[in-house]
Amino acid sequence: MYNPKSKKAEEFIDHQEVLDTLQYAEANKHNEALIDEILQKAREYKGLSHREAAVLLDCDIPEKNKEIEELAAKIKQDFYGNRIVMFAPLYLSNYCVNGCVYCPYHAQNKTIPRKKLTQEEIKKEVIALQDMGHKRLALEAGEDPVNNPIEYILESIKTIYSIQHKNGAIRRVNVNIAATTVENYRKLKEAGIGTYILFQETYHKESYEKLHPTGPKHNYAYHTEAMDRAMEGGIDDVGLGVLFGLELYRYEFAALLMHAEHLEATFGVGPHTISVPRIKRADDIDPDVFDNGINDDIFAKLIACIRIAVPYTGMIISTRESKECREKVLHLGVSQISGASRTSVGGYAEEEPEEENSAQFDISDNRTLDEVVRWLMEMGDIPSFCTACYREGRTGDRFMTLCKNGQILNCCHPNALMTLKEYLEDYATEPTKKIGYELIEREIERVPNPKVKELVKEKLKAIGEGKRDFRL
Ligand code: SAM
Repeated sequence: MYNPKSKKAEEFIDHQEVLDTLQYAEANKHNEALIDEILQKAREYKGLSHREAAVLLDCDIPEKNKEIEELAAKIKQDFYGNRIVMFAPLYLSNYCVNGCVYCPYHAQNKTIPRKKLTQEEIKKEVIALQDMGHKRLALEAGEDPVNNPIEYILESIKTIYSIQHKNGAIRRVNVNIAATTVENYRKLKEAGIGTYILFQETYHKESYEKLHPTGPKHNYAYHTEAMDRAMEGGIDDVGLGVLFGLELYRYEFAALLMHAEHLEATFGVGPHTISVPRIKRADDIDPDVFDNGINDDIFAKLIACIRIAVPYTGMIISTRESKECREKVLHLGVSQISGASRTSVGGYAEEEPEEENSAQFDISDNRTLDEVVRWLMEMGDIPSFCTACYREGRTGDRFMTLCKNGQILNCCHPNALMTLKEYLEDYATEPTKKIGYELIEREIERVPNPKVKELVKEKLKAIGEGKRDFRL
C-alpha cells in the first residue's frame, strides 16, 4: 500500500501505485480540461503530485506541450534566474565489489585498470581543478569496504578542504558514494560535506535486482532507504537521480517524484537536487544493450516536467550530455552543470595513456572550463561558483525558505556575480573576461534592494583589487 510516510522502500515507492499512476496518465493524456487544471495548479509554483506530473509527462496535445515548456522555463527563471552553478566530479577510486551490469567498475570487469588515489595524488588533482577555477566538487568512488572504506573518504575530504593553491580553494565537497549506515552519514556530515548524492539507478525493484546481481548494492531496500538514513545522520541536503535508459522513463519519473514526496512528508524537506544521467558507452559496456534509451526530445520533456513538479529542487546535468543537448535543455530547468570533467581516476593532473583508461564512461562535452563559462555567458547565463548557502548554514529547509521568500535576486544573484568576478580575475582568458565584465555590469543592476546593490558593487571592486571570498 502506498504510504509516503512509511520508512519502508516498498511502501513509499509502491509498485502498484506507480502502475496506477501510469495508467491514469495514459488515460488522460488527451484530457485537455484536466491538463489545464494541472497547469493552473502548477502556476501557483507549489509543485505537483506524482500523478498530476505524470499526466503532463504523457500529455499528447502539441499546444499543451508548448505551454508545459513555457511554464518550466518561467519557473526556472523565477526561481533560479539565469544562474548556472558549476562543479566537477573527482574520481577517487574505481575499486568496486558490486556487479552493476551497466557500470564498467563492476567487479567482474578484468580489463579496466583499477586505481585508487593516494592523498598525495588527491592533492595534485585538486590543484589541477583549482587551477581551472573550480570551487565545488562531487566526490565519486566505487563501493569497496577494503579499498575505499569510509575512513579513506573522510581523509580525502579533509585533504581536499586543506589545499589552498594561489587563490584557489575547494569550498564545497559533495559526495556520491554507495549507500551506507547512519553512523557513516553522520561522519560525512561532520567532515563538512555539502550534498550527499546517490542515484537510485532504477526504482523498478525487479529490474533493480537484475541490474545489480551481486554485491551489497543488490539490496533494493537498503539502497532506496539510504536518503532516510542520510537525513537521520544529519545530512539535510540530499540529491536524487535515476540512470535513464535502464527502465521505462515514465515509471522512473513517477517513482522519483514519489521519493521526493516521501522525503518531504517524513523530514519536511524535499531533495536538494535531482540528477538526470543517461547511460553512456564505457569500457566493457555497450549502452545499446539497454533498450529503454530516451531521445533528446523526451529528455527535454522530462526535465521540463521535473522543473514544474518540484520547483524548489535544483537540477543537475553532467558532461554525459553534449554541448548541443545541454543548450537545448538548460533553460527548461537545469541549475547546475559540470564542466571540463574527467571520469577517470587521476585524470585531471595527468592525461592517461589509452591503454590505462580507468574512465567510468565516455563524456560528450569535452570543452575546457573557460569554454563552458564563455558559452554560458554568450547565451546570457551567469556561470556561478557560489558555495555560500552551505557555508552560511543555509541548508535543507533554510535554503528552501530563501527560495520561497523570493530573496534569490538579493542573495544568490549577487553571490553568483561575485564568484564569477573571482573566476574571471584568476582563471579566464581575455575573450572570456571581456564578455564576463560586461555581463556583471548589466546583471548587477537587477539586484532589487538598493543597499545590497551598493554593497555588492563595492565588493566587486575589491575583488578587482585582489580581495577574495565575499558572500552574502
Ligand atoms: N558507487 C556509487 C554508488 O553505488 O552509488 C556511486 C558512484 S558512481 C561513480 C556514479 C554513478 O555513475 C552511478 O550511480 C551510475 O548512475 C552512473 N553510471 C554508472 N555507469 C554508467 C554508464 N555506463 N553511463 C552513465 N552513467 C553511469
